[in-house]
Amino acid sequence: MTTPRTAETREILDLLSARGKALEELYCRADSVRQQHMGDEIFLRGIIEFSNLCSNDCLYCGIRVSNRDVRRYTMAADEIVAHARELPARGQTTVVLQAGESPVFGDDELGEVIRRIKRETTLAVTVSVGNRPLPVYRYWRECGMDRYLLRFETSDPELFRRLHPDCSLDERVECLRHLRALGVQVGSGFMIGLPGETVETLAANILLCRNLDLDMIGIGPYIPHPGTPLGDAPNVYRDDPEMFFRAIAVLRLFNPDAHIPATTAFDAVFPGSGRDLALQRGANVFMPNTTPVEFRRDYQLYPGKPCVDEDASQCATCVLHRIEALGRKPGAGPGHSRKSAGKTPQ
Ligand code: SF4
Repeated sequence: MTTPRTAETREILDLLSARGKALEELYCRADSVRQQHMGDEIFLRGIIEFSNLCSNDCLYCGIRVSNRDVRRYTMAADEIVAHARELPARGQTTVVLQAGESPVFGDDELGEVIRRIKRETTLAVTVSVGNRPLPVYRYWRECGMDRYLLRFETSDPELFRRLHPDCSLDERVECLRHLRALGVQVGSGFMIGLPGETVETLAANILLCRNLDLDMIGIGPYIPHPGTPLGDAPNVYRDDPEMFFRAIAVLRLFNPDAHIPATTAFDAVFPGSGRDLALQRGANVFMPNTTPVEFRRDYQLYPGKPCVDEDASQCATCVLHRIEALGRKPGAGPGHSRKSAGKTPQ
């Protein structure tokens, strides 16, 4: 028996089917809501992908544990802190510490890296290293962690189970609730066009973001990686890639106060323009890659990832030009959540 559609689901499905003039109106509305609620600043969050070790085997991911073709690396703590120190001079006010889900880089060691970055720089610190127990999140929070990113990827529990042999959707949502209870600014999101999803799943994904009351929402097109079991499974919207932008526009309408990044995957599908278009259709955050160039090719969750040959300073210059060309300006402050401003310990 199928569940009856709610009025909100019907509204989202209607918006996701927009074409022609209706599509132009959708993009205009999303851009206007972004401007009214988030302003014209584009916040820059520099990502350091500090390790590609992962114990998990997510079916779509290029650095899953079963992919033996990946050269594994983990940056030293001093190296991570040294790279973080360079961000403020490039207009980047947040560092995002990202890695696979692996205990190899110890929880205490990561806590010490967070502490040092908070002590030695003005940066807000976002961490993104997967599902962890509550005491670990609490410890990192005590070390000064401001935010955490953990995407749920799909709101369909059965599809989630098929794609993620190592955890359930309930466990991941529980992690998000733990983080919220600790006063951490919480980011999540999903992939668009996973094999096995329907447009109803996409609508449910957008509603789950709203219902979780997220501070930050990252979404991006699913891109098949040849070194994974889904290598031959194309994106559901391969013949209608405009759906990726419809999704970000509708996401903005239903989450007016959330920070929404123009994720790198948009540039992989629309080289050179994807992130700019996302920023004109609801997004307000850009996350330049700050990973040392010698590691970039080894952190490919999907193929065709842009900016793998540029270094951090080239990426920083490029992003500032892109922002200027859009008539916008880089965010001046840390770009904390509009929802939980003031709750973050300084
Ligand atoms: S998606 Fe994340 S948790 Fe899953 S295999 Fe890739 S790095 Fe590991």
